[in-house]
Amino acid sequence: MAKEDLAVEAGEKQEPARRLASTFAELGICKELVEACDLMGWKEPTRIQAEAIPHALQGKDLIALAQTGSGKTGAFALPILQELLENRDVQHSFFACVLSPTRELAIQIAEQFEALGAAIGLRCSVLVGGVDRMQQVLSIGKRPHIVVGTPGRLLDHLTDTKGFSLRKIKYLVLDEADKLLNVEFEKALDDILKEIPKDRRTFLFSATMTKKVNKLQRACLRNPAKVEASSKYSTVDSLKQEFYFVPADYKDCYLLHVLNERRESMIMIFVRTCESTRLLALMLRNLGLKAMSISGQMSQDKRLGALNRFKAKDCNILICTDVASRGLDIQGVDMVINYDIPMNSKDYVHRVGRTARAGRSGYAVSLVNQYEAQWFVLIEQLLGKKIDQCKVDPDEIMILKEPISDAKRIALTKMKDSGGHKKRRKLGDDDDEVEDHAHSKRSKPFKKSNRR
Ligand code: AMP
Repeated sequence: MAKEDLAVEAGEKQEPARRLASTFAELGICKELVEACDLMGWKEPTRIQAEAIPHALQGKDLIALAQTGSGKTGAFALPILQELLENRDVQHSFFACVLSPTRELAIQIAEQFEALGAAIGLRCSVLVGGVDRMQQVLSIGKRPHIVVGTPGRLLDHLTDTKGFSLRKIKYLVLDEADKLLNVEFEKALDDILKEIPKDRRTFLFSATMTKKVNKLQRACLRNPAKVEASSKYSTVDSLKQEFYFVPADYKDCYLLHVLNERRESMIMIFVRTCESTRLLALMLRNLGLKAMSISGQMSQDKRLGALNRFKAKDCNILICTDVASRGLDIQGVDMVINYDIPMNSKDYVHRVGRTARAGRSGYAVSLVNQYEAQWFVLIEQLLGKKIDQCKVDPDEIMILKEPISDAKRIALTKMKDSGGHKKRRKLGDDDDEVEDHAHSKRSKPFKKSNRR
């Protein structure tokens, strides 16, 4: 077996595929779309694109195993857009439907469709929960070519929005199918599948081939071509991974130490609970850092607001739960911190996949305490390699103890106060207020030298 094939079997890389096809034109992509790829900065196809696109252009159903960051959106969007272009004279509205498990991912998929289809006047509707339905009805009224949605809201519109039907769609894409098959989406997904014509192409993209995905594949795909970019859970070579072994009581001090070392970085911090996202964000802002939180308990507007401010580099630290670990593609994230170690090792791979994307470098650091060490060992086993340990002079850490406990106390008081208004406030609704405080003159980023 060629060396390159072995590397793929071992799941080592998500690199542009050289031996398969080195240009989009070679894959059979038409001139307009090659130009669109060029404008996106896509010089050559990624492996999943090189594997999947030829089958898709031949009109086959697809089952693709591809991880986040592999370029999988392009792998399904380009063939769909190409067929749309080839059938210019037919009535195109509601040509394809893409289902995604999370709202943010749906928005991101639509953004990629719109960017690739900008020159051909592509219309796209995003139908996700947590945002104004009337705007979505208006957008459906414009008869979009592509509908991207989360199952619940899409089904709501299918049931309630006059004139909206998916009976004529030519393509159905299930992105992150392993997640879409969770029990929370089961009923909606079944109901949507009943509304969609049997005579269609189906593309099923999944990070893993679970039993449920296998079952869905049998139920809904016709003699699919199977492609995969990586057969194992793996991280890219351009990602540097390290960990600190930290006493549970001093984890915040280590966090501040790590943040102090990387002041200019664009950082995502992963924690286990929604409450912790907010507590950490408040605490870090009390220390003068530009941090925002995003979690499933925040209103959708707030979630998008925080995400957009982070993308716009208004703040350089985004604290999140695993809601943001899958699929989110935020340009420029150069560091991921695992504040809490995930119990499910696969979540680690999804989290650290937020950095070192599309061939760029990145850094992931994990703060492992005595209770989490067992989960970290499982992560190393999944990756099939040891992660380097970082050490730091304990005195340096102790200096941070006092400012951390002050900042945490103020944050806890703030959370307790706003807890009284829980009925009319959703988690994170006071973020802007605190953000202003963080930017006030009183609040200067804490440096160790302040205390020396
Ligand atoms: P995805 O896996 O679809 O979320 O894509 C991850 C990132 O890779 C996105 O920022 C894409 O714009 C980027 N991307 C997709 N295809 C290519 C390509 N052929 N070359 C370079 N970047 C790409």
